[in-house]
Amino acid sequence: MSKKTKKAGLSARFGARYGVRLRRQIAEIEKKVKQKYTCPGCNYKSVKRVSSGIWKCSKCGLVFTGGAYVPVTQMAKERKNVQI
Ligand SMILES: [Zn+2]
Repeated sequence: MSKKTKKAGLSARFGARYGVRLRRQIAEIEKKVKQKYTCPGCNYKSVKRVSSGIWKCSKCGLVFTGGAYVPVTQMAKERKNVQI
């Protein structure tokens, strides 16, 4: 990075585009995306997002689908009897 940025954090790459509210929302989402989550297979906290809705555990290699930004969405929790 050559340019210095003020307090823009993760969304700094968007520059002044899209408005500050939208950039803050994106920063929030990206924070969630980059977190590691607990694996439903081995219970290790090593699940990372592969792409939108696809999650992979680096411990046991389990690949599963989930929400676009977090592995388990509120919707999925509500319909527990449906196989995820
Ligand atoms: Zn696992």
